[in-house]
Amino acid sequence: MVQSKSPLVLPPNVSSDAFTKFIASCYDAVGSEHIEVISSTSQINDGDYIKPNYTHDPHHVLRQDFFLASAVIAPRNVADVQAIVKAANETGVPLWPISIGRNSGYGGAAPRVSGSVVLNMGKNMNKILEVNVEGAYCLVEPGVTFQDLHQYLVDNNLRDKLWLDVPDLGGGSILGNTLERGVGYTPYGDHFMMHSGMEIVLPSGELIRTGMGAMPNPNQREGARPEDQPWNESAQLFNYGFGPYIDGIFTQSNLGIATKMGMWLMPNPGGYQSYLITIPREEDLKQAVDIIRPLRLGMILQNVPTIRHILLDAAVMNHKSHYTSNIDKPLDDDELDQIAKDLNLGRWNFYGALYGPEPIRDAMWSVVKQSFSAIPGAKFYFPEERTEENSVLHMRHKTMQGIPTFDELRWVSWLPNGSHLFFSPIARVNGDDATKQFALTKRRCHEAGLDFIGTFTIGMREMHHIVCIVFDRKNEAQKKKAHWLIKTLIDDCAKHGWGEYRTHLAVMDQIMDTYSFNDNVFRRFNETIKNAVDPNGIIAPGKSGVWPKQYNRDEWKL
Ligand code: ADP
Repeated sequence: MVQSKSPLVLPPNVSSDAFTKFIASCYDAVGSEHIEVISSTSQINDGDYIKPNYTHDPHHVLRQDFFLASAVIAPRNVADVQAIVKAANETGVPLWPISIGRNSGYGGAAPRVSGSVVLNMGKNMNKILEVNVEGAYCLVEPGVTFQDLHQYLVDNNLRDKLWLDVPDLGGGSILGNTLERGVGYTPYGDHFMMHSGMEIVLPSGELIRTGMGAMPNPNQREGARPEDQPWNESAQLFNYGFGPYIDGIFTQSNLGIATKMGMWLMPNPGGYQSYLITIPREEDLKQAVDIIRPLRLGMILQNVPTIRHILLDAAVMNHKSHYTSNIDKPLDDDELDQIAKDLNLGRWNFYGALYGPEPIRDAMWSVVKQSFSAIPGAKFYFPEERTEENSVLHMRHKTMQGIPTFDELRWVSWLPNGSHLFFSPIARVNGDDATKQFALTKRRCHEAGLDFIGTFTIGMREMHHIVCIVFDRKNEAQKKKAHWLIKTLIDDCAKHGWGEYRTHLAVMDQIMDTYSFNDNVFRRFNETIKNAVDPNGIIAPGKSGVWPKQYNRDEWKL
């Protein structure tokens, strides 16, 4: 039966009748229990990380309902997704696919275009389809979280064979995080690099498998639907296949709805040792980064290590009010020194790990230790040497061996009603560059009345500089400052040629405008693909600043 409720917000250029028709088609296909029309403000709750909402961004830097879904639909299988896509094509209703919808600091489950229907892919499609020990990979549906897969490895006594790579928080989906090109901290930290094989419902409703998945397994199951056919046996082993490599265009994009993904797992390395190196002075960043570059390039640093600013660690340990009576102004240098002293940490803290049997770890450690000893006052710790409860080293000790945690949630509560936005520019692994980027971001944070809270995560040849813009979402003036801050930083950084690797809904267009080489051909090429593949513009319009022809991007710019 069709629910007569109207949504609080309709998609642009979609009449109430067309929307009702769309919902009616979905009712027939998916069943009413999997459809929720957002028709009352009582349905808009910020919730929390553990119990996420699907209607809007809980970390709203604009109005709470600025990015609002008209309905949330949770398909049960590929056929449901195809039926929903068909209905969307017939009515012009835009769909915004998510897997778990946490996407914390980047917009949560909220759609870029209010009135879009959020497709909650993770609710019902959440199976671990395969864990293959010999090939060291898994095949998962959208709703499988890092925590779920880790638990599976534990429950099946597989941790002695396989580890998975996890990001800072374990509650996100493997598939969604990889589509966003998220990172973790083991040697398998680059998630997109480690994926192998995607299954996607295209805007036409057709189902495609990428890489070797495009070649059918000779053992076809007679009469089975394409999504139920076995995969090619190399699909999770070799992600390129033959011909144009298309996996990339399904990341941070709006060209399809992913229904399965293969992911490499890391063979248990046969030994593990995490460590912390405290680096005393803020200006030591330059020397530290220049020490890190050859070590990482040469794979002496085997994983994705991080250099965390003191306040990120301080914020994990306590609220700002624990450290100061005046939480309305940024902490000054003396206060930071005092915090570092109290926590027995440096102004920068480097968290890394060694992998392999003891002789290998010992050899690696001697090189790492010797290299960092060039920094006057640097100190070296293994977890057993840090006795304080809840230390960040104990937390990273888990993360860097692929055990998911939720402790990093705590830094969001630095301020009351703590919310956050991530500002994530890429930096070269170069001491001068890192120092400049840090100085610029810190200065702007202070201008906004906020503390600099950030970390550099070290990839193979670059660093993701993650600036955590923490604000009080019930403080309108502070929200405005946080929004001003991220917009200003994007422009400031672009002037240096520093671009962001990923972003929040509110600034996707601005960032796309900074990737403007040769008259914005990158954006225009993406729009050409978008319009060809999705002629009705129904999948995630505006995602990453790519708009289909039905939308005038100038009018949508924020
Ligand atoms: P997380 O699992 O970390 O909470 P989300 O589920 O919110 O992440 O996904 C992050 C983003 O990735 C979404 O906003 C969307 O752009 C994209 N995404 C996630 N799942 C899918 C999917 N199944 N198909 C297409 N895009 C997806």
